Amino acid sequence: MRWLTKIVFFLLIGCCNLSRYSHCETLTKQDDTIPIVLHLRSEKDLDVATKLLSYPKKTLLAHGINVYIDRVIFREEGELDIVGTPEMERSTLDEDEKIHIFFIDSLYGDDGEQLYGLHVNFSNRCKSYILIPDETTLSTIAHEIGHEFGLIHTEDRSNIMRSGERASDATFTKEQANIIREGMLSKRKSCY
Ligand SMILES: [Zn+2]
Repeated sequence: MRWLTKIVFFLLIGCCNLSRYSHCETLTKQDDTIPIVLHLRSEKDLDVATKLLSYPKKTLLAHGINVYIDRVIFREEGELDIVGTPEMERSTLDEDEKIHIFFIDSLYGDDGEQLYGLHVNFSNRCKSYILIPDETTLSTIAHEIGHEFGLIHTEDRSNIMRSGERASDATFTKEQANIIREGMLSKRKSCY
């Protein structure tokens, strides 16, 4: 009788592990992904975009988050040449849970200061864009993705969320990756 109990017990453990594993697999595939839509001026931008995206891809993959290019859109010449919040707010782009990254000529702040990248968040959370000018840095897209999902600035040079000069191998902490993951889930829930 005792051996029978052992076998039943073992089977139960096995089933629980198996079901928990398949649940984890499902969660990883559906929830830990950041789809990117690229809005480019030309084929040349595609090479630059691929290179720049390799940084957030690598850094976030270390935390189990998969950044991937969902779609590439070549903008009409002249479209959104003057990129400012009024123009973007009026734009007819899809409102979705994806991150739309625009490659543009140059970018300046309100006080005339040159910017390497900008995250534009409208009142509707399902419409948020990242602007990347020609003059940018390798970790800027990762930094703006961090803002998109709720991260604030930090002083640490080895951290991606530092504003200004960062170490060439700056990363996200585990806590920051968890905030990004929570931000992804809440955005997806409200934008699907
Ligand atoms: Zn910032």
